[in-house]
Amino acid sequence: MKAIEVLLSYACNEACAFCSQDIAWRRAPGLPFALVARELFKAAKEGYGAVCFSGGEPTLRGDLGRMLALSRKLGFEYRRVQTNGLRLGSPDYAAELAAAGATHFRVSLHGHDAAAHDALVKVPGAFAKAAAGLEDVMARGLAVGVNFVLTAENAPSLPAFCSAFLERGVKDFVLIYPLFEGDLVAHEGRMRIGMPDAAAAVRRAWPVFERAGAARPHLLNFTPCAAPELTPWMLAWSPHSILVLDAAGRPVDLYMASHDDRLRTGPCGACALSSECLGFKRSWLERFPGGGGLGPVDRVPEPGRRGARILRRGTGLFDAGRHEVARAVQPVAGQAPSGAGLRVERMTVTLDGGAGRVIEERAEWLEPLGEASHA
Ligand code: SF4
Repeated sequence: MKAIEVLLSYACNEACAFCSQDIAWRRAPGLPFALVARELFKAAKEGYGAVCFSGGEPTLRGDLGRMLALSRKLGFEYRRVQTNGLRLGSPDYAAELAAAGATHFRVSLHGHDAAAHDALVKVPGAFAKAAAGLEDVMARGLAVGVNFVLTAENAPSLPAFCSAFLERGVKDFVLIYPLFEGDLVAHEGRMRIGMPDAAAAVRRAWPVFERAGAARPHLLNFTPCAAPELTPWMLAWSPHSILVLDAAGRPVDLYMASHDDRLRTGPCGACALSSECLGFKRSWLERFPGGGGLGPVDRVPEPGRRGARILRRGTGLFDAGRHEVARAVQPVAGQAPSGAGLRVERMTVTLDGGAGRVIEERAEWLEPLGEASHA
């Protein structure tokens, strides 16, 4: 299935201490409804079946319901909202989005209790609202997942967090290693965690999923050398780990691996995954030079997932066919291509199962704003 992510704006009603977006970006105007509609029409015509609205915080947009309704009308089967959950706890809001056409919600939660979560997102009462919203959405039979960003502050309580939300009925977890960019830099003393320590926290949480008989969490922004045995659950570490498909071949999450600022250095030279892995983020290497004590992976890890397949080169684990993801965002100062408009990034991965070949095409262009006006 082809999937498109639309980043509506950088505006947000929380102030997470680990946010990788720059607070100054929040002043940028969001994408006009007309422009989003145009991209949705185009994507639908090209056979896209999944759309994800993200930000910033997409629920700040008064026209989110209209976008969901339009997506449904255009035939997108999978319509996801990625949210911090603050508005989701308001009476009737989840019902409103569900009625408009949302099929999936991904809620960001970063602590096992109110004290831990609220301190990180810097909004008193945020945990109670997000947790209430999550329950409301689940009660409506809609799919939910949670995102958890690991920091020095919340890593010790990761097993408690996983346990608490498994008990609430959540089945889809993404555990995220932080990016040392954006607003996090201002709070780095409090937030900074090495990748080995973050991986150790994930290992401590793993038995919680095993005991519950639950699907294991996905891991984002980790490199395989931090925990080689967990590689099959890692996203976005190689160009071909972007699409995670369930047994029916449908995407269970949508991520694009960024090639731009990754570097193979230090342990990468002797690593069994060096031809496949994109390497370390540059901002991470500035803090952990030479790879922060991580060693090379000595052999390609065995695929370890059941019921889901991850697209990987070198393991013989291919889904034949053509897969495409796209992302539409408004560029901010310093990003290329620059100028007023919508930056569209598109990536196509064609997997030839018979020949074991992977063909990757990437494209990026700027759509001018034209006559589109802000809704
Ligand atoms: S190539 Fe480098 S970053 Fe990637 S797993 Fe190997 S050592 Fe780690």
